[in-house]
Amino acid sequence: MEVRYSYLKQQFENCEDLWDELKRFVPTGDFTLGKPLQEFERRFADLIGTKHAIGVNSGTDAIKLSLKALGVGFGDEVITTANTFVATVGAIAELGAIPVFVDCNDTFCMDVDLLERAITEKTKAIVPVHFTGYMTDMRKLLPIARKYNLPIVEDACQSILGSIDNKKAGTWGNAGAFSLHPLKNLNVWSDGGIITTDDDKLAETLRLLRNHGLIDRDKVEILGCNSRLDTLQAVVGNWLIPSAIDISNKRIENAEYYDKHLSKIKEITIPPRPADFRIVFHLYIVFAEDRDRLLEYCIKQGIESKVHYPIPIYRQKALSSFGYKEGDFPITDGHTKKIITFPCDQHLSVEQMDYVISTVQEFYKK
Ligand SMILES: *Cc1c(COP(=O)(O)O)cnc(C)c1O
Repeated sequence: MEVRYSYLKQQFENCEDLWDELKRFVPTGDFTLGKPLQEFERRFADLIGTKHAIGVNSGTDAIKLSLKALGVGFGDEVITTANTFVATVGAIAELGAIPVFVDCNDTFCMDVDLLERAITEKTKAIVPVHFTGYMTDMRKLLPIARKYNLPIVEDACQSILGSIDNKKAGTWGNAGAFSLHPLKNLNVWSDGGIITTDDDKLAETLRLLRNHGLIDRDKVEILGCNSRLDTLQAVVGNWLIPSAIDISNKRIENAEYYDKHLSKIKEITIPPRPADFRIVFHLYIVFAEDRDRLLEYCIKQGIESKVHYPIPIYRQKALSSFGYKEGDFPITDGHTKKIITFPCDQHLSVEQMDYVISTVQEFYKK
């Protein structure tokens, strides 16, 4: 049996109605900051429960522009996690700021107990990453950020509709950054990103920053850039957004099914599943003994399993000038040797999940 990782073929197999929308849209010529974009922003803000949502051209830009709007610039330190995807760190570095790392815990998010010791006089912001669809413990993080008067940009790119105590990702910080990349849970047909915030002033600055700082055709208020979310992609987003809740529910259901069966295998450890956290499983990861051989075996059996990530960002060559070395973040390092990711998306069948489970069982019996 084949268990593929990407489900894009299935997701856009039956979308005649979307093609109809696009056929109606194209003759309008409303291609930049058009009406469908305004509609998508309204619907996204309603979905998350914030006052504003501002479409930009990627999740990376969502982080970068939010930090810039909050005053982060050259030489400032921005705290994030040692195990995140490169984009978080790239966004910080592009502003001339310095990424400062904190280790994660077994939820794959920042161990907030380690945050305070990373704060210095130069710290200007915190970017907690709600990695894999988990949530950083924002209940603990918020009081620390307040104590030091530090703004928060949530990297919620992997955690749309994740929450703690029913309070969603993207509503805890000054801003929440989301990605609409084809491989993210709410995806469009190209790159895309969106920023959530309740702060009117911040929303206004972000709207200026993404569109050259133009107030109108003739007046430039601040220097910005071109980071508009494509209106054409907003048409795709408007088509998909009514399914967003179902998509996250299905992923959670799949993860529960895996958990139930994989937890019976003694060589597999399921990460913690705190009851007050809604984890949306952008990535379904478990800890596995003899991981390298299990990964190889699964791939040989047709299961496209992966490792997110074999080399953590803090140890990548591109970051060598920051002076970190292996062992600086022991939990992140430990994870690289035992984590394995299985497909968990909304288009996966029970038969495919059963095949993954029996393949893992078989591997350890040998
Ligand atoms: C995908 C992702 C991003 C960046 O999103 P893009 O839309 O690809 O720029 C940032 N942070 C995390 C954790 C991501 O997974």
